[in-house]
Amino acid sequence: MGASAPDGGNDVNSQRPRVVIVGAGFAGLTVAKRLAKAPADITLIDRQNHHLFQPLLYQVATAGLSPADIAWPIRSLVRRQRNTRVLLGAVTGVDRTRKHVILDGLNIAYDVLVLATGASHGYFGHDSWAAHAPGLKTVDDATEIRRRLLLAFERAEMEPDARERQRLLTIVIVGGGPTGVEMAGAVVELARKALAADFRTIDPQQTHVLLVEAGPRLLASFPESLSSHAEQALRRLGVDVRLNQAVTECAAFGVALGDERVDAATVIWAAGVTASPAAAWLGVASDRVGRVVVGPDLQPLAADDIYVIGDTALALDAAGASLPGIAPVAKQQGAYVAAAIQARLSGRGAPPAFHYRDQGLLATVGRKTAVIAFGRVRLRGWFAWWLWGIAHIYFLVSLRNRLIVMTQWLWSYVSAERGARLITGLHSALDPDRLRRRHGDARLSDERKPA
Ligand SMILES: Cc1cc2nc3c(=O)[nH]c(=O)nc-3n(C[C@H](O)[C@H](O)[C@H](O)COP(=O)(O)OP(=O)(O)OC[C@H]3O[C@@H](n4cnc5c(N)ncnc54)[C@H](O)[C@@H]3O)c2cc1C
Repeated sequence: MGASAPDGGNDVNSQRPRVVIVGAGFAGLTVAKRLAKAPADITLIDRQNHHLFQPLLYQVATAGLSPADIAWPIRSLVRRQRNTRVLLGAVTGVDRTRKHVILDGLNIAYDVLVLATGASHGYFGHDSWAAHAPGLKTVDDATEIRRRLLLAFERAEMEPDARERQRLLTIVIVGGGPTGVEMAGAVVELARKALAADFRTIDPQQTHVLLVEAGPRLLASFPESLSSHAEQALRRLGVDVRLNQAVTECAAFGVALGDERVDAATVIWAAGVTASPAAAWLGVASDRVGRVVVGPDLQPLAADDIYVIGDTALALDAAGASLPGIAPVAKQQGAYVAAAIQARLSGRGAPPAFHYRDQGLLATVGRKTAVIAFGRVRLRGWFAWWLWGIAHIYFLVSLRNRLIVMTQWLWSYVSAERGARLITGLHSALDPDRLRRRHGDARLSDERKPA
């Protein structure tokens, strides 16, 4: 594999093959790290400056962890890799003929391209719902959800109208997959344990948390026994679990479930995903949610120089079932592609087809129980919770973050406190003019506070 002519944005002096990796999530970062010693110029591009550990994002959204506890600057992660440079920016296209990716008006030339741009939330064609029901994918999403949750309690504390107060204390989580289940457990614990003693007018115990799932059970990808354990555990915590009920509208008032209207100030979307537009960039086949259909070599086009991996790819296992969009799949695919690129660089043949080694499915329900399915093994309860915790700490990227997260968890395990209860972006949210318009001047005075 020889280097082609240098192009805009690339090192013009280098004659080494250029490997461009778009996306520094679990998949892309694994490729980059595995190629640390490869005789190639590696360009790692991401539209964020940090790598994010998404499995713990719900804890940022519910004030259990701070963003920096689960995110790391990409530059620092590849600091020691002399063959790797990092570019911050959003890729908007790929020119397969000229072999470059388009990044903020620059053409970044490649000899081998790896697209690992992940997925985002999908609203089943109802894009207008996004404003009322934010999803959870980035640090910004998590801090926005945290802001909405905490602000709803603050507003409820000042709200004289009982119906509006109950609306402010109603939280709907749409989607009963792992993210929805974990969010529901964490939200109800935030309200009923961490906030319980901190308010004088409202009673956070009155918070109504609904988890709405269109299918017949929670955690559809888990064995049924674990789904029902998760459902019962959530009900015990006080979550109103609604199965077989689809959200038919998300609007400023809250949500509609068919004929039922649920007034809720906070709605969180954990229901659908849409892959990044990599399929459109390449002009190749995709599935219903936009994932690029790849072969057993994780390439969309046979014998090409392009790999697509992680959540943005649709890869099948040996039985023909699609691999799930989870971190272990992304990481193993990253390792496979790095090996395939190493083989190309050294003139060896391609490795055998990609094979996913199952690492199990895990989900936690609050601070005391979790469910784990690993092969034929089924675990539930506190022991599963500890295993879940150990696994997540183990997979965090740096020792610093492992220590911080472990300390925070141990503290909140014994105290039920949430240390990261910061409401950001308050200037606009608590603008006095806005509040006056809403409540009338008199209601802002202390004497008129509701009993
Ligand atoms: C809330 C939540 C909880 C989860 N919990 C679990 C869990 O408990 N266990 C588990 O195994 N999995 C979990 N997952 C799934 C897991 O996080 C994903 O499967 C995994 O992150 C996929 O890795 P990836 O590298 O394909 O994509 P990502 O990790 O999403 O990385 C994609 C990267 O590409 C970048 N990017 C996207 N578009 C562009 C562009 N146009 N230009 C430049 N850069 C771009 C993004 O900024 C991002 O850094 C969870 C996901 C979420 C959202």
